[in-house]
Amino acid sequence: MENAIFIFVFFYTMYYLITGFSTYCWDTLHGKGLITTFSKHLSDKEYYNCVLAIVLSLVSFFYLSEIVLLLTAVIKKEKNIPWNVDKVKLIFNDMVRGYKLTFMANYLGELIGKIILLDVFWKIQPYFQHLSLFTTNFAWYSWVYAYLVWELSTWVWHYGAHRVRLFWCLHSPHHAPEDLNTTVAWVHFFAEGFYSSAVQLIILMLLGVQPKMLLVIMAIETSWGTFIHAGERSFKKGRLGILQHLIITPSHHRVHHAKNPLYMDTNFCTFLPFWDWLFGTLQPQRDEVKLEYGITRKMEPGNFMDFYFGEIVLLWKDVKNAQGLKNKILYLVKPPGWSLESVEHTASTVRGNFLKINPALGVTSRQLLFQKIGRRL
Ligand SMILES: [Zn+2]
Ligand SMILES: [Zn+2]
Repeated sequence: MENAIFIFVFFYTMYYLITGFSTYCWDTLHGKGLITTFSKHLSDKEYYNCVLAIVLSLVSFFYLSEIVLLLTAVIKKEKNIPWNVDKVKLIFNDMVRGYKLTFMANYLGELIGKIILLDVFWKIQPYFQHLSLFTTNFAWYSWVYAYLVWELSTWVWHYGAHRVRLFWCLHSPHHAPEDLNTTVAWVHFFAEGFYSSAVQLIILMLLGVQPKMLLVIMAIETSWGTFIHAGERSFKKGRLGILQHLIITPSHHRVHHAKNPLYMDTNFCTFLPFWDWLFGTLQPQRDEVKLEYGITRKMEPGNFMDFYFGEIVLLWKDVKNAQGLKNKILYLVKPPGWSLESVEHTASTVRGNFLKINPALGVTSRQLLFQKIGRRL
């Protein structure tokens, strides 16, 4: 049944992706499309929108190219088998492994979006406006400040989403795919926006970020946030050369999506790695530790209900079985993996144990800098 829905969703989504992208390319070739968008923003002096127009076109290109690359790789893998029903089934199964869960989550989000307003951020923003202690101007340094505050707010909600089990239930579908590609950026539990927006708005408004700046910042965040999900089929290494020392790259975000003990609960930022660096959660990809994507619990492969609601069901069971109100609340607020009996399975214990044996793999530039300062003092 789920596979039948996937076939429908796959063709429906692909139809809109391909027709949208090809029409835009065709228009561009005829002097409109991207050229019109670009020149309009240029004449309006909205330079950031010029950059975004290119980035968004590239992101659409990545969606499609990754799907084509997977399809070609799968067909190549099965090249010795003659074309028949079994071969089509094998190819279909590989497509299911790569795209079923992300396509279905995206479609579900679209369906629910028609009932519940998902752009909750702007809906609730006015309620947080009065928290502002001051409001920044539009000078260049205010933009730098605003972006850093935005990243701080991202770091805080994202850290909470990994460290508080109730919020992890909302965030875990984003981490469940075992194949990383740009469509993973589509996967967000429909209610996650209520939590993340509230946390971000408290920080942003308190620290005086001008709301109008957020339109620009969110556009950069969304397009870069999609791009960093590009998988190995698009960018083998994804380290982006010297840029890896300045911004979050696909390699950084691959680490964030990996379930290896070394990589658990690291790299929470989206564009600027500053807060990860400062709070000690920045973890570069190590060649010695091969990335394994997904979450640590056993999942039913390809089962959408388990993928989307599995963590909620498990939390419900733990809360139900816990004795007394205090213990029930503890299950809601303690980190995933925590139980009344032990903390052995929490990410910080698992990572800590790994680092005791392999301390060099976790050393970051921040630790080296702090060690240097420590030696000088
Ligand atoms: Zn995450
Ligand atoms: Zn992600």
